[in-house]
Amino acid sequence: MVLGKYVEAVAAKCKDKEIQKVSQDGGVVSGLLIYALEEGIIEGAVVSKVTDEPWKPQPHIATTRDEILAAAGTKYTMCPNVWMIKEATRQYGIEKLGIVGVPCQIGAVRKMQTYPFGARFVPDKIKLIVGIYCMENFPYSSLETFVSEKMNLSLDIVDKMDIGKGKFWAYTVDETATIPLKETHGYEQSSCKVCNDYTAELADISTGSVGTPDGWSTVLTRTKFGDKLFKEAVEVGMFETKPIEEVKPGLGLLKKLAKQKKERAEKTIEERKKLGLPVP
Ligand SMILES: Cc1cc2nc3c(=O)[nH]c(=O)nc-3n(C[C@H](O)[C@H](O)[C@H](O)COP(=O)(O)OP(=O)(O)OC[C@H]3O[C@@H](n4cnc5c(N)ncnc54)[C@H](O)[C@@H]3O)c2cc1C
Ligand code: SF4
Repeated sequence: MVLGKYVEAVAAKCKDKEIQKVSQDGGVVSGLLIYALEEGIIEGAVVSKVTDEPWKPQPHIATTRDEILAAAGTKYTMCPNVWMIKEATRQYGIEKLGIVGVPCQIGAVRKMQTYPFGARFVPDKIKLIVGIYCMENFPYSSLETFVSEKMNLSLDIVDKMDIGKGKFWAYTVDETATIPLKETHGYEQSSCKVCNDYTAELADISTGSVGTPDGWSTVLTRTKFGDKLFKEAVEVGMFETKPIEEVKPGLGLLKKLAKQKKERAEKTIEERKKLGLPVP
């Protein structure tokens, strides 16, 4: 199964206007974390928040709605969220923790739950795992370089970045700049080339933009718990949903991209084996 196991796939959009304003796509991640926090399902969540340097995120333990909102939006660079889990449970004393992460991070969280070496009494405190789709990521200096040199923009005036329709987009107050994705490939983090998970297959709930129109998200509920939580959030009015079959481009595109990612990883792994290089 190219999208991993899932219970249900739907198109969703957060109905809360404040969340809509700051979120990257349909606000599914922030909406779910806020719902889980307000319902006492989690006491806090590890999110990625920009600090002093423009667009450079750091893992942050959000324990309020405002802190979750402050961390909304995609940062196209690495942010070591998994590193913060132990800190959240030890220094912050959080007993019920949520986490958001890209697929490799979700894989790491599941490994930590299965083999908790150096993480005694931590895994049982992770209550909600929200995964975001990810085709590739960029080291911070690479992001800074191609945005400034290829797009002629300084990161500190960029309000939003996005990947879609084969392009990398950067928005400022009065400008929309774009470059074809093929021009950003050379800047990718090299380990992403051996990564074969596009849709965060091991999360409780996975979400991303591909498959649904702008302002909406494609949601895959994966575990029984994730499915129940999402449906409850829909029931109380946090999200508007549509059957995925009714939106364009739908799951077909998601499957196509997930397959491409897996094939690229397989090919790179084979090439690396021939060269005697380490492989995952
Ligand atoms: C590097 C990267 C590549 C992506 N590639 C794709 C793709 O190919 N196709 C696709 O459909 N979607 C992709 N996404 C996901 C997409 O950009 C949105 O993050 C997702 O749709 C969630 O939107 P939302 O409105 O529900 O989330 P929001 O409510 O805006 O919340 C986003 C959450 O993601 C967290 N976050 C932001 N940046 C990072 C980061 N670097 N690492 C970990 N967590 C982070 C924030 O802390 C926040 O909690 C990518 C995301 C990242 C970070
Ligand atoms: S492509 Fe894979 S390895 Fe790279 S950031 Fe995304 S999930 Fe992680």
